[in-house]
Amino acid sequence: MTRADCLFCRIANRDLEANVVGETESLLAFRDMNPQAPTHILIIPKEHIPTLTDLTESHTALMGGALHFINRLAGQYQLSKGGYRVVINCGPQAGQSVFHLHFHLLGGRQLSWPPG
Ligand code: 5GP
Ligand code: ZN
Repeated sequence: MTRADCLFCRIANRDLEANVVGETESLLAFRDMNPQAPTHILIIPKEHIPTLTDLTESHTALMGGALHFINRLAGQYQLSKGGYRVVINCGPQAGQSVFHLHFHLLGGRQLSWPPG
C-alpha cells in the first residue's frame, strides 16, 4: 500500500521526481536531496511502512533484501573497500523527518562516531 500524502510513496510511485540510482521489485534507491557525505543514498521499501517500530515478522524478507541491495549499491559506488555507514533514524528523538521507513547509505569521507 502507498499513501498519496507521503513524500516517499510519491517518489516510489514516480509521481515526484528523484535521482533514482537503483530499484528492485520491492525497493527503490535514490540520492538524498541534502547529502551529508559525497555518496548519500536513501533506500526505501515501495510499501508504506512509517518507522522501524512498525515492522512485523512479515517484513523479514523485505528487510534482508534491503541489506543485500545496499551491499550491492555500496559496491557500485566504490564504498566497499573504504567503508560506509547505514543508518535508520526511528522516531522524533532520532531525528526522523520523513515517516516512510528508509535507510541512509553514507560514504566517501571519514565519518565520525558517535553521531550527533
Ligand atoms: P530522516 O531525517 O527522516 O532520517 O531523513 C530524511 C531524508 O530525506 C533527509 O536526509 C532529507 O534530506 C531527505 N529528503 C527529504 N525530502 C526529500 C525529497 O523530496 N527528495 C529527496 N531526494 N530527499 C529528500
Ligand atoms: Zn510512504
